[in-house]
Amino acid sequence: MTFSNIPPLLGDALAERGYAAPTPVQAAVLGAEAAGRDLIVSAQTGSGKTVAFGLAMAGDLLVNDGALPYAIAPLALVIAPTRELALQVSRELGWLYGKAGARIATCVGGMDPSKERRALHAGATIVVGTPGRLRDHLERGALDLSGIKAVVLDEADEMLDMGFREDLEEILDAAPDERRTLLFSATMPRPIEALARRYQRDALRITT
Ligand code: AMP
Repeated sequence: MTFSNIPPLLGDALAERGYAAPTPVQAAVLGAEAAGRDLIVSAQTGSGKTVAFGLAMAGDLLVNDGALPYAIAPLALVIAPTRELALQVSRELGWLYGKAGARIATCVGGMDPSKERRALHAGATIVVGTPGRLRDHLERGALDLSGIKAVVLDEADEMLDMGFREDLEEILDAAPDERRTLLFSATMPRPIEALARRYQRDALRITT
């Protein structure tokens, strides 16, 4: 199988990277049934899940010419449990969305918050971060979620295990109702199902 139905600039980035075929989770999120829907995805590290959610949200972010628009507020928010994972996600989305003109701000504990605030104010289109730091920026007015079209919860089970439920709820409650919510998790224990029920609508379940 080859990548098909991919926005051209993202397809170019995949080709340059040498990724010729989608992994199973990527093929699933690119399926016609998944288009535009909330997704609840069982995915392990190493499955290609980062590119999967990057591709899944493309339709929500790109405009007619296949690039990201100039935006006064971020369009996509990716929340990950640890600084290391958030940095890794930023790097992956960086090459995937580089040709499409994405400006990515990474907001993680242990980094200089004033630098992050400058990146947020300088027109970041995709924001990647850890729950506590994102909540902090939100409460201080540095993170504007009013333009968010897609929210990704990456390794959602880890985030709940690490005690980030309240941070996640505050962030999700502040994002517009008319958004897509893509939930990725290695396991699907009850608290994850509860989170999905509260924050997703008619989610398509994907298990690969
Ligand atoms: P992840 O599951 O997101 O941590 O991805 C694991 C690794 O697989 C990362 O280094 C990705 O860049 C790589 N990867 C993602 N998609 C593909 C693909 N379609 N073909 C080959 N490698 C990929």
